[in-house]
Amino acid sequence: MADKISILDMATFCKKKGLVYPSGEIYGGLAGFWDFGPLGVEFKNNIKKEWWKFHVQSREDIVGIDGSIITNPNVWKASGHIDNFSDVYVRCKECKKDNKLDKNEIGKVKCECGGEYDVVGDLNLMFKTNVGPVEGNVSYLRPETAQLMFADFRLVAENARMKLPFGIAQIGKAFRNEISPRDFLFRSREFEQMEIEYFVHPDKIKKCPYIKDVLDYEINVLSAELQKKDKDAVKMTMKKALEKKIIKTEWHAYWLATEHKWFVDLGANPDNFRIRQHVAEELSHYALDTWDLDYKFPFGWKELQGMANRTDFDLQQHIKVSKTDLSLFDNDSNKKVVPHVVAEPSQGVERAMLVFLFDAYNYDKKRGNIVLKLHSKLAPVKIGIFPLATKLKDNGRKIYDLLKNDFMCQFDTAGSVGKRYARSDEIGIPFCVTFDFDSLKDKQVTIRSRDTTKQIRVKIKELKDILRKLLDGEKLEGFGKIITSKSS
Ligand code: ATP
Repeated sequence: MADKISILDMATFCKKKGLVYPSGEIYGGLAGFWDFGPLGVEFKNNIKKEWWKFHVQSREDIVGIDGSIITNPNVWKASGHIDNFSDVYVRCKECKKDNKLDKNEIGKVKCECGGEYDVVGDLNLMFKTNVGPVEGNVSYLRPETAQLMFADFRLVAENARMKLPFGIAQIGKAFRNEISPRDFLFRSREFEQMEIEYFVHPDKIKKCPYIKDVLDYEINVLSAELQKKDKDAVKMTMKKALEKKIIKTEWHAYWLATEHKWFVDLGANPDNFRIRQHVAEELSHYALDTWDLDYKFPFGWKELQGMANRTDFDLQQHIKVSKTDLSLFDNDSNKKVVPHVVAEPSQGVERAMLVFLFDAYNYDKKRGNIVLKLHSKLAPVKIGIFPLATKLKDNGRKIYDLLKNDFMCQFDTAGSVGKRYARSDEIGIPFCVTFDFDSLKDKQVTIRSRDTTKQIRVKIKELKDILRKLLDGEKLEGFGKIITSKSS
């Protein structure tokens, strides 16, 4: 089991290792904004790449778009964000700290210090901006990536020749003027989302053709009913959750299990997750039923991903406000239909980063250093290359040149090899290659595994292939299979 450190310690670790810094720190930073350092940008790109591969490139039923951040403000009028996207702004009577509450929490939730809250007012969370030179030509930085997937829906469906059910996916920045950004990357004002709007024929919202893939999949389930009784989540299969009508539609069960699996397959610990149904008072203005995928952060169970049943709310709103027909002709039923979005997996990239970091973070007492057991697909650097003496620097560089176009490599010549291994463990490099004096004679190098510290000697001409196999998780004789945080 990984050692959970506090969110503050994680922020310190991330800064030290070049993952994440407070934005513009030399000027004191700006609350809720973060810069990603040399390792952070690699790590974040790897997460996005894996998400895109899994959700878009390996599926025939989902295509991607990249919508703009600022768009016609009527998009936000139609979606309800101009009128409804607000939080209740409260201030603690005792410690004077600002916070945000959901409407149903007023009078029930107290400040961390125990003080009662005063309601200051409602705050719309969208950042306003002026477009062009004429004052008053207002638009907004998008608060979610979802809306252009609705506004562009008909065009995408037609030019990608999609047939229901199908999805549109997008990864990109979102901005929310959060009242109280906190917990490092967990709640920031600028963040990225990875979202899918999955469109289903309105007469077929109960049946999911892929449900068989997940029926036996087990997750900790916290229904609205269990929350009312103050009970904990119960582990059950998706089959049972559907039979007991805890999850109402097969689509919701399918996407919840699929999203959970995405995390687990990339090394996250399944026991740190649960799915939680929103209680009636929490539901957003557009949602019929919402489930969150929650993660056990050091500061408690929190939402990692939201999955709302948005019905046909968004498409109908855009049809009404834009006066454009966004229905599709359905050949099977021989009629025009406005599809429903039964489940909309919506994931913050930075919250995913935190999950993978927390589950990968281990302090190894024997080694005396941190070992970041990130899945090899997510590790920012895949291979460390160490010549064992100054005289061997040029030979080591040749190994680096051999590998650099295939893998993200780091060439490190500074300090003892022990120090170099420790440094590479701390940033999660899965394999290190050392070039020693014997390598000059036998044309072989040593590969060392981050997770097991086991070493094997391999021929330089076979090195690239062997590393590729190891990074793909293959077990090689005499050498430990790469261990992900899940199995540690
Ligand atoms: P919360 O209740 O935590 O404010 P939300 O329900 O408003 O979140 P959604 O609108 O469902 O969030 O957004 C989808 C996802 O986007 C969230 O599950 C989260 O991963 C991410 N996200 C939302 N707001 C933020 C934020 N301020 N900072 C970082 N990530 C965020």
